[in-house]
Amino acid sequence: MPEVTVTFPDGSQSGFPVGTTFLDIVSSIDEAFSRHAVVAKVDGQLVDLTRKLEHDCTVEFLTFDSDEGKEVYWHSASHVMADAVKMLFPRAKLGIGPAIRDGFYYDFDVEEPFMPEDLERIEATMRKIIQADLPFLRSEIPKSNAIQIFTDLEENYKLELLEDIHDEKVPIYRHGNFTDLCLGPHLASTGALKAVKLLSIAGAYWRGDERQKMLQRIYGTAYETQEQLDAHLERLEEAQKRDHRKLGKELDLFSFHEQAAGPGLAYWHPKGATIRREIEDFWKDEHVKRGYQLVTTPHIAKSDLWNTSGHYSFFRENMFTLDVEDQEYVLKPMNCPGHILIYQTKMHSYRDLPIRYAELGTVYRYERSGTLVGMFRVRGFTQDDAHIFCTPDQVLDEITGVLDLAIYMLKTFGYQDYNMYLSVREPEHKDQYMGDDEQWEQAEDALAEALNSRELSFKRMEGEAIFYGPKIDIMLLDALGRPRQGPTIQFDFNEPSRFDVVYIGTDGQPHQVVMVHRTVLGSMERFIGGLVEHYAGAFPIWLSPIQAKILPVTSYQNEYAERVEDELKQHSLRVEADLRSEKLGFKIREAQLEKVPYMLVVGKREEASQAVAVRLRSGEDLGPTPLKDFIDRIKAEIDQKL
Ligand SMILES: [Zn+2]
Ligand SMILES: [Zn+2]
Repeated sequence: MPEVTVTFPDGSQSGFPVGTTFLDIVSSIDEAFSRHAVVAKVDGQLVDLTRKLEHDCTVEFLTFDSDEGKEVYWHSASHVMADAVKMLFPRAKLGIGPAIRDGFYYDFDVEEPFMPEDLERIEATMRKIIQADLPFLRSEIPKSNAIQIFTDLEENYKLELLEDIHDEKVPIYRHGNFTDLCLGPHLASTGALKAVKLLSIAGAYWRGDERQKMLQRIYGTAYETQEQLDAHLERLEEAQKRDHRKLGKELDLFSFHEQAAGPGLAYWHPKGATIRREIEDFWKDEHVKRGYQLVTTPHIAKSDLWNTSGHYSFFRENMFTLDVEDQEYVLKPMNCPGHILIYQTKMHSYRDLPIRYAELGTVYRYERSGTLVGMFRVRGFTQDDAHIFCTPDQVLDEITGVLDLAIYMLKTFGYQDYNMYLSVREPEHKDQYMGDDEQWEQAEDALAEALNSRELSFKRMEGEAIFYGPKIDIMLLDALGRPRQGPTIQFDFNEPSRFDVVYIGTDGQPHQVVMVHRTVLGSMERFIGGLVEHYAGAFPIWLSPIQAKILPVTSYQNEYAERVEDELKQHSLRVEADLRSEKLGFKIREAQLEKVPYMLVVGKREEASQAVAVRLRSGEDLGPTPLKDFIDRIKAEIDQKL
């Protein structure tokens, strides 16, 4: 057999005969490591470990610890689940079964919906398939053969998928008696799966299209060890406890009225609105301090405006329209055209720039009802929006300023870890974007330079930019390590040219402004929904709707409790005296459930010494404290946004 050269990530090279499998290669290098190898990356492409060496190449072996390794692991588990379902429900038809974040799913067309007890049976059958350690076998066959195979199997959804494939040969994978149409790659064999767990059942339309048939989706996950699986299940349980839809109801923060008022529209209750007001005040103060000017724009505008901005052509399907006096209006989906109108009421010289208009602007976007998720995906929401109009020379300072503001605000909310992405043009198709080459290069450089100057590491996403400008996206990692959409900084070469937004330069001539859209929090809905989960409902004192509850030991202290309440309210503290004739223990438990940061117990002794006995929601007891000292303490904490 002729030998070929394999180059490893550390630069070392070895010769192997053509036809050696990647599994053989990794085993020959490190037997112990090979048991953890999930997939090979050959010249940048993921391939099965069982594939054979054909030519000189670079090879990296990935384990479950990598994102790509997890994807292959979980996707392989979806094949095993589908196999088990077919064994138990032979008439089930297969949809698709991808890996997702934290696991996998597979969709099935079945006559009767699955029941929770079915999951246990399917799981037990999966364990048998895993124990049998069946190899995943890949073959590339002529499309006509594949059509024959899936016709014989009566897998009409697979046949539909085949219709969209225009290659002569198609890949199929088999293990045991199970066959699937799939690109792969997969694990070497089913035995590589260790701990599997099926989690839930949900309805899902075929191809996500509500006009198509509703299939049954089973979600599951898999890990290399039972300990890892248990830890994951614990995280899931914690995530469920923190679900903002559940806590939002329990803590009386917000509600949705799908039947009475329509889906995807949030109603903020007094407590939720209090949190929101605190955040909005903080946001406005920080922006004004940093040279932004607050503006307010109307919720509707004639469609002419959206024709000029271009949204009417490329954003039409997400816009709500209404007819007024034979004129079509649009519920604003964006705040930018309004800010441009304000900018254009005057002629600006380069000396006036930068101009930064900020608005907590409520916008409406038509999202399909099936895609709405609590506060995370709604139809009406308030963006913490701002538009910067500046000269090309000012771009770097402006972007750096936005980054500083964003990081400062996020840290205040306890978000310490981020993933940053810089979306730029597709290098081979630079002509398919609005704006000229020079503008793009300058903008892309400024974004990268600003990130570098703040030592923020980021991932460069080639080809991910929208057609009108490059952008930075910052994903926050919340208290459970889950990514959440955070700030975006987006250049726009479209609107300034369509609206002809200019400034007078040093040469006395008009020049097109550089326009940057940016949000820090995203929207109040999504951000506060995320905060509920991040804090598990236990908001820091400055945000807590009720900052302290005063709890008299007996009704004899009711009057003193009310005096304490009044005194604290004089200091603009949000407090409540609980004067109900309930036992003290009951009132304490209730205040803890409401996640009130301070409980001030007042008995005979406290009354006599003008004090309060301070308890924290954690259960910690700070003991009797003079009322004046408590006021100093809580006010200092609020000032520091603790
Ligand atoms: Zn597959
Ligand atoms: Zn905008």
